[in-house]
Amino acid sequence: MDEVCPGCGACLPAIDGPVHKYMASSAACFAAFNEILAAEYSSALLMRDHSLTVDAYAAQHPGDPSDRRCVQSVGLHLARLYMALERNARPQDLNAIMLRFGKSKTSLRALTAPPKFQITASYVAPFAGTPHHLSKTRDWAMATWQDWSDHHNYIARWADAHAA
Ligand SMILES: [Zn+2]
Repeated sequence: MDEVCPGCGACLPAIDGPVHKYMASSAACFAAFNEILAAEYSSALLMRDHSLTVDAYAAQHPGDPSDRRCVQSVGLHLARLYMALERNARPQDLNAIMLRFGKSKTSLRALTAPPKFQITASYVAPFAGTPHHLSKTRDWAMATWQDWSDHHNYIARWADAHAA
């Protein structure tokens, strides 16, 4: 039987398995995410764009908007996506940027998620560890950022104010 992921909307065969504490998803979607992560953890080359994978997945699984952890997770990961994709921040600088953002996370407000995501983890997972891994995760990250376009102005302003 298929199950729709409550985060990204991917419709996948239902499986039993773990899900993240607050990034609400189906078990099958979380498994797809973990497949991508496993390939990245075992390759220095793929690790380079690891933050794009994490940010795209987090931005697609916003969870409960009344839970502060969820609000902050979505805001922080969108802000880092913005830095990577719009500001061309260097991959090696993105973790330090995230730490700086984290100090201001309580100022992030809840955002209404887009109704639909163009590309999801289950689309990328079959390419995990293949020569297409980096291009597929990049497509996924860019599509996710585009899907959130209603909130680009807010995220850009917040990120620019807190990145320095
Ligand atoms: Zn999902």
